[in-house]
Amino acid sequence: MRISNQEMLAPSDIPYNLVPPHRTKVVEYTTPTTRDQRKNLIKEANWSACNLPSEYIFVNMCTDSGTSAMSDRQWSAMWLADESYFYSKSWYPLNDALQTYTGMKYTIPSHQGRSGEAILYELFVKEGDIVPSNCHFTTTRAHCYYNGAIPEDITCKEYFDDNDQSWFKGNIDTEALKKLFIEQGDKIGLVELVVPNNLCAGQPVSMKNIREVREIIDKYKKRDVIFSLDIARISENAWIIKKFEEGYGYKSSLEIVNEMCSYADVVHMSAKKAGLVNMGGFVALNDQTVYQKLQPKLIRIDGFTTYGGLSGRDMEALAVGILEGVNDYYLEDRQRQCDIFANACKSRGVSVFDPACTLGVWILADKCLPHIPKAQGPGTALAVQAYIEGGVGLTSMDSLHRGREDKDDPTNTAKIQLAPYELIRCAIPRRAYNDDHFEWVAESLAKAMSWGEMIPGYRRMDIDRPAIEARDIGLRAFFDEYEPMHEHP
Ligand SMILES: *Cc1c(COP(=O)(O)O)cnc(C)c1O
Repeated sequence: MRISNQEMLAPSDIPYNLVPPHRTKVVEYTTPTTRDQRKNLIKEANWSACNLPSEYIFVNMCTDSGTSAMSDRQWSAMWLADESYFYSKSWYPLNDALQTYTGMKYTIPSHQGRSGEAILYELFVKEGDIVPSNCHFTTTRAHCYYNGAIPEDITCKEYFDDNDQSWFKGNIDTEALKKLFIEQGDKIGLVELVVPNNLCAGQPVSMKNIREVREIIDKYKKRDVIFSLDIARISENAWIIKKFEEGYGYKSSLEIVNEMCSYADVVHMSAKKAGLVNMGGFVALNDQTVYQKLQPKLIRIDGFTTYGGLSGRDMEALAVGILEGVNDYYLEDRQRQCDIFANACKSRGVSVFDPACTLGVWILADKCLPHIPKAQGPGTALAVQAYIEGGVGLTSMDSLHRGREDKDDPTNTAKIQLAPYELIRCAIPRRAYNDDHFEWVAESLAKAMSWGEMIPGYRRMDIDRPAIEARDIGLRAFFDEYEPMHEHP
């Protein structure tokens, strides 16, 4: 018999803050490699683990997107899938699960997060608009440019303060938002809050901040405004609220997710993250008219509104995974792993962005390699060296890769600004690795760091490809290439 969602939350005296609530049934191998081999491999991959054939990455923390290990409950549900185009029987359990999860009335499956965003931005973002956010994710930023609008990131001040120890450094700056509405409210038709804030070291957003955004919109809007939540990892954000925001300790993470969504007009999710599936996404909302306006747009991009580009088996896996991913025992274990990794780094002298959250751990690369100037990619350099040492895959988010384009001259790469931090993102794939893997990654980073000044800085390569279109500029990080100024040790 399958264990029900209810039974998975049965009271227990087993300390899930010390041991995982699940065990392993299937394991996965990668191709063994040597240090010499890895040195060649990373060179052939243009000095980025993201370009490596994944079989050669032993511990792959490049992304947590689509990399979750699925449960026996999900795999078995997939055998019940129905692949009918219209009103597949797999849509009903998905619709139920998404309504339970968001507390919202209408749900629209999409093949991943970005196709749901695309139809929302097409509907609500107009030419000349400003789209405020705590920090747009790469794809919503691109949707802004595609609709002739300007993405405006107004992250809270705490984020920029290294020494600040508060838990909600992913918040939007509400004073700045209010000011923006007062001065240019006629240009605002959508406000986007990313929970948690992926591109700002994965920092969580507080319930208070979400509530305040709702109040500001209602009070200061000058035209119809949609409050949109980008909820790729909302369950994990909810866990931090449960643990660290006053008044939420006795609520379940699911209740907290419901409350977070209740302040928004629309939510969109890349279910490849907290949804514990390899593929999928959705949009959810309460307004029937908006729902009806989105329907034809979805059909153009993703397919009929009861499957949205997903196969029936994807929908079955998501219907189960979305609720497993908000289970409190599971979230407690995920935070435990995150802490283990952060502490393994710190104890070896590898600088980590504080606080480390459930999404992953961010390394402060310029503190690890102080001899490399910000403009020469300390994150890129350290990530490459860590791959050479231990076969670990990490994503550099330093100024070289993630510097911000100039607002008035976005395609001019000479005007790219430095990033506030030289970060490496170590994303934690869900349920995929053991504690020992995280010790190994920390060890690889420490070994890499121990080469000190022998590690080279990086410079941009001139590559033979057409100039990127202005509206694609936010995606340049996927195409730029860099080379080391001398050999890696
Ligand atoms: C991954 C992600 C998206 C886009 O989702 P895809 O499923 O990759 O299309 C949007 N927002 C955030 C915060 C994400 O992390």
